[in-house]
Amino acid sequence: MAYRPTVVNVDKAGSNDKDGLYEYVVHLEDGTMCRVFYNRYPEWKLTHISRLLKTPCPICRKDYICNCFEKFKGELDAQLRDGRIEQLLA
Ligand SMILES: [Zn+2]
Repeated sequence: MAYRPTVVNVDKAGSNDKDGLYEYVVHLEDGTMCRVFYNRYPEWKLTHISRLLKTPCPICRKDYICNCFEKFKGELDAQLRDGRIEQLLA
């Protein structure tokens, strides 16, 4: 069964406005939380993603660091760009 993350909430976790660096904690529908990093310049780009180790990985079931979410960067980026980042910055 293919896993597909669904973003239900986003918290702004940190920012450096001068350099255009932003950090968010993303809450997924299945309870997984990920930390994502964006660089705003020259354009919004998701630069890094890491799963918070609060719950086992929904993909590989490991409860320690894995790289599964690397391949969902594009998917999560698309969902986060759906107006949510601008809302958080407003
Ligand atoms: Zn994993």
